[in-house]
Order: sequence, then C-alpha cells, then structure tokens
Amino acid sequence: MSHRDEILSENDTGLVLDTIEKWLERDVAPVADQMEHADEYPYELVDQMKKLGLFGATISSSYGGLGLPALTYAKIVTKVSEVWMSLTGIFNSHLIMAMCVEKYGTEQQKQKYLPLFASGKLRGGVGFTEPDAGTDLQGIRATAMKDGNKYIINGTKTWITNSIEGSCFALLVKTDSHASPPRKGMSMFIVEKGPGFSISRKLEKLGYHGIDSGEMVFQDFIVPEENLIGGQEGQGFYNAVGGLELGRINVAARSVGIANRALEESLNYSQQRKTFGKPICQHQAIQIKLADMSTRVSAARLLVESAASAYDAGRRCDMEAGMAKYYSSEAAIENALDAMRIHGGYGYSKEFVIERLYRDAPLMAIGEGTNEMQRIIIARQLLERNKI
Ligand SMILES: Cc1cc2nc3c(=O)[nH]c(=O)nc-3n(C[C@H](O)[C@H](O)[C@H](O)COP(=O)(O)OP(=O)(O)OC[C@H]3O[C@@H](n4cnc5c(N)ncnc54)[C@H](O)[C@@H]3O)c2cc1C
Repeated sequence: MSHRDEILSENDTGLVLDTIEKWLERDVAPVADQMEHADEYPYELVDQMKKLGLFGATISSSYGGLGLPALTYAKIVTKVSEVWMSLTGIFNSHLIMAMCVEKYGTEQQKQKYLPLFASGKLRGGVGFTEPDAGTDLQGIRATAMKDGNKYIINGTKTWITNSIEGSCFALLVKTDSHASPPRKGMSMFIVEKGPGFSISRKLEKLGYHGIDSGEMVFQDFIVPEENLIGGQEGQGFYNAVGGLELGRINVAARSVGIANRALEESLNYSQQRKTFGKPICQHQAIQIKLADMSTRVSAARLLVESAASAYDAGRRCDMEAGMAKYYSSEAAIENALDAMRIHGGYGYSKEFVIERLYRDAPLMAIGEGTNEMQRIIIARQLLERNKI
C-alpha cells in the first residue's frame, strides 16, 4: 500500500492510530536506531509524514489540515515517541507555529499560511528562546522596529527546533523595549527565511538526535507588516503562552511514549534474562520496579488525556497541561533509569534502545517550560481556583 492510500482521515481515531502504527512498524522502527546514533536528519520519513498529513494534524480541515482533536493528536505523539521521540519534534513545533496563526492570526494570514503548513510545503517552528532568556521570556532582546509598512528585525534566537531544515517560524520579538510590564511590548511575527535571516550554528545535544536544533540570527531582516500575527502589536507574549498549552500536552504525550517503551522493554527482558536459576522478573526487587513503572505510565496517560480533553472542550487548561507535563516527564526519566537498572550492563549498551530513552527523557523536563515552572503554574492556578 502506498502512503498516498494511507492519508489520515478526519475524526477516525482508530483508523488514524492504526495507520500511524503501521507506518512506525514498517518505515520508522527499522531505521530509528541507526539514524539516531548517526544524528542523521530523516528526509525520507519527513516526506512520508507529509503524505500521512501529520504536518496538518491539528490544523482545521477548512484550511487543509486533518482537524484532529488534541486527544487523538496526543495518542499519535505517544505512539511515535515509543519508536523514535525525535520525529515528534519535527511536526510538533511546526504545529505550535500553525496554532499561533490559526488562533491569533488575521483571516488573511490564515488563508495564506495554514494550507502551506498543513501540506508540509512550508515547515518550521517557534522562535522564542534567546541566549539570555528562556524561562523568563519577557527578558528577550530581539526587536522589530516599524519602518513605514514593514518591520526591521534584529536579534538572536537559540535552541530553535527545525531551524536548519525548516523555513518559516513564529518569532517572538519586542516592538517596544520600554513597555512596562515588558510583555505589553512583545509581538509575534511569521518570518520566512530570506536575506538577513541566517543560521549561525547547529547545536550538539545529549539526545533528541536526528532533528535539528540551531541558532537563528536576524540582521536588519525585513518583514512586511502583514506578517505581524493578529495585526496588532503587544500581543506576542499572550500568543506564545497560548501556544504552550498544546505544546505541554505534546511533551507530556512524548513522555508517556518514552516511559511506556522503557516499561515494555523491561517486561520483555526481565522474562528472558535469568540469574540464580530463574528469570529476573521472579525476583521481587525487579517486580517492584516493574510495578512502579507501570503505575507511572498509567497515571501519566490519564493526566495527558485529562489535559487534552480540557483543551478540546475549549477550557483554560494551563494547570492540567502543567500537571500532565510535569508528572509524565518525571515518569519518563524514572522509567528510563529503572529500565537501565533492569537491563544491567546491556542497558548501557548502544545495541539496546534503553540508552536512547535515557538520553531523550531529560529533555521532557526542560522543553515547553521547565518542571520548576510547571509547579509554579500549577500552584498559582490551584490558589486562584480555590480562593477563600
Ligand atoms: C533540545 C531543545 C529544543 C528546544 N526547542 C526550542 C524551540 O523550538 N523554540 C524555542 O523557543 N525554545 C526551544 N528550546 C528552549 C527551551 O524552551 C528552554 O531551554 C527552556 O525554556 C528553559 O530555558 P533556559 O534553557 O534558558 O533555562 P533558564 O530559564 O535559564 O533556567 C535555568 C534553571 O532555572 C530555573 N528557573 C528559572 N526561573 C525560575 C523561577 N522563577 N523559579 C524557579 N526556577 C526557575 C529553571 O527551571 C531551570 O532549572 C529548546 C531547548 C532544547 C534543549
């Protein structure tokens, strides 16, 4: 069957997940380890992802996407992450950019960009972080200065996913560096690569291989005023924060994938490996680890489902998304380490997938807002919802 025959259809969760599973088994699993170790960009898989419709997964069907609810999308992300987590970054950062345009853009911006994003013809991500500002987004320094009917952008963005292979980004800048509070002077632009927009370097990482993370430099880069998202200055911080809810659900879903793969590998291995005359799964010390791992996967999955359902219902869900992201990412880290212990020396070997899960898991505690910040967000919302 060709990929074209497998294009995902809207609102058919079972079929969608089946199609993704087949693709993962047939095309991704056989190459994931080798490409990850070589830190090789998966061009062929990206072409297949285009045909599967993944670059338009959460974009409305009226703009050419699949219009999948966050709940279905989260399940796709979990499945892909069980096989190779890096692949989810290729379409997720892209979909956060698309979400910023769909949720906050003008109709003209939606008509122009969303169909191109959905087909994967134009791919990219989000440029928020700078060398001196990550968690504290209001501390960014990149600026966009108005000049007639255009803006001139200067500044540097770092750690930007898809920055080398992608060509279009939702870029957070300051249009008023003196605004108080600073967030009121922040705006977001859709920027396409061109003169004045360059990539200074590719960043080397512990894990999350295969996908490009780079530093973007803007030197007198000109963007037309039509590319200011929503057409009004001062909204950028709110656009960025709005995009992070879906981003956090996605990171939580990736974490469930990593945690579950660690569990599945451990269940298999512990029934095969024997010590002192019996499979190690019959030693209580190993059983306790398996029980902990399995409980974490189930709890994390439920938190992701709860956050995604709240998102789909249009409810404010920063607390739910924060809880899902915080708990699931810690579960991924703990499960990866437990799996390594269960596998003994083989867990440390590059011939087993455990070492990859162990390298990929910590990123889940950092991306889309660190876990320290998630706890602060959860506590703030808790207090707000339970005022006495
Ligand atoms: C592989 C990778 C891919 C990424 N992709 C992207 C991308 O596509 N686009 C993008 O814009 N960014 C991206 N990022 C950046 C990422 O979002 C930031 O690294 C993250 O937000 C943390 O910012 P920071 O690294 O500057 O850490 P800092 O903000 O400097 O934080 C350092 C430490 O201080 C803690 N901390 C900070 N403030 C507080 C506080 N108020 N209270 C308690 N603790 C605090 C943090 O939790 C952390 O432990 C990526 C990062 C990585 C590693």
